[in-house]
Amino acid sequence: MTEELPPPLEPLPEDWERMLCVVAHPDDLEFGGAAAVARWTAQGKRVVYCMVTSGEAGIDGLEPARAREVREAEQVESARIVGVDEVDFLRLRDGILEYGVTLRRAIAEEVRLHRPDVVVTNNFRDTWGGRTLNQADHIATGRATLDAVRDAANRWVFPEQLGPDGLERWDGVKAVWAAGSPESTHAVDITDSFDAGVASLRAHSAYIEGLGWADFDPAEFLEGMSRQVGQRLGVAHATAFEVFPLGWGQ
Ligand SMILES: [Zn+2]
Repeated sequence: MTEELPPPLEPLPEDWERMLCVVAHPDDLEFGGAAAVARWTAQGKRVVYCMVTSGEAGIDGLEPARAREVREAEQVESARIVGVDEVDFLRLRDGILEYGVTLRRAIAEEVRLHRPDVVVTNNFRDTWGGRTLNQADHIATGRATLDAVRDAANRWVFPEQLGPDGLERWDGVKAVWAAGSPESTHAVDITDSFDAGVASLRAHSAYIEGLGWADFDPAEFLEGMSRQVGQRLGVAHATAFEVFPLGWGQ
């Protein structure tokens, strides 16, 4: 009996200029997506990060007010390593995000502010594949992001954000890409930017220490994932994305 090979992945398009990455927590992008961001910023593309929470409930031994400061600083440094100089923190409550209008409104405002061609979020499927459960904030954020890009395009949704002294509606988002989805269809070659991705994960040192995973090695961890995905793209290292096109009939 031969083992069934996972299906090949398509390369992601790179004919865009501006990207907004919306994730629930500091560190969410660094578990895979950041190496792809490093590739894109090296191409001259503009990438902005938006953290819905500051991950303040993520370190068991550190109370939230202090954890927020530490984690925001780690995220800013982590972003800098991959060529991102703008990180917005929406400061909604970590751990108890709910999919709904509040979240959609906050993300739609970010989309209207930054006017991206592509929006990236984290995997928001129920699992990471198999029975490895996803986390509630990731699922809420991803679903809300998918809706918020369409809200941002409609002048009659969250109209209080618009006006002569405010923002304009933005209908230029071509697709939402969810990093690390078990339903991924596409991937990006991160062979040349792999090391930057590792460095960006290492920048979350207080968080990684707080996890208490004694033998956790960011390079080894990321390499395990990126080699598997790379095989499906025909390169050494790659990051996988599920693509949600926003036009009709795509
Ligand atoms: Zn997270």
